[in-house]
Amino acid sequence: MKLQLYSLAYPVTALGPGRRVAVWVAGCPLRCKGCITPHLLPSDAGKSITVTRLAQHLLQLPMSVDGVTLTGGEPFVQAEALVTLLDLLKAERPQWNVLTFSGFTLRQWQRGDSAQRQLLQQIDILVDGPYLAGRPGRHPLKASANQQLHLMTPRAQALKSELDALPANTANLAVNPQGADCLIGIVDPGARRRIHHGLRLTTPGLEQTTEPGNRHHVEFY
Ligand code: SF4
Repeated sequence: MKLQLYSLAYPVTALGPGRRVAVWVAGCPLRCKGCITPHLLPSDAGKSITVTRLAQHLLQLPMSVDGVTLTGGEPFVQAEALVTLLDLLKAERPQWNVLTFSGFTLRQWQRGDSAQRQLLQQIDILVDGPYLAGRPGRHPLKASANQQLHLMTPRAQALKSELDALPANTANLAVNPQGADCLIGIVDPGARRRIHHGLRLTTPGLEQTTEPGNRHHVEFY
């Protein structure tokens, strides 16, 4: 079983509660105007990796994390591979929570194929809906106001106060081993421009968090 993977980063604090490993998968059939990750839209972006190898890698991160965030691209396009990945991760890290961003809606995936419905069952927190430029979201995890935050499990319900307290416009700043920088997080376009300008960033797209004392690792595939 293989997954088309674009990148991953850790520890990420801007894409969900606690410290997380974020996984960007390649490929999205939508073309939202103002999409912040246009380089991830082709289904062959990044690199093909076996799910087993990716799971082993995530289970051996050199630091502890509280959960995994799946984003992209559109995670549900690769539902079968992600179901297998989450099975492998949860077998070893049952305490990890799973947050997923999707450009489609919960209702659409509830009518999806078998793998897409299985993936829904493995997700604790779903942020759904396409990105609509010009309609800024009122929650730190919503890029636009139409998007909904679904607390799908009791574990997610227990995180509600933590989710409500997440600061807006938080970003993590990462540098990959090749020296390329990127910004990780849900940041409105104006704040993103200011951060890019102020820090003289060169890589558009991905977001990252600046947390004193933390090193953020990002790996491109
Ligand atoms: S759903 Fe997300 S990745 Fe897909 S086009 Fe829209 S903003 Fe871009």
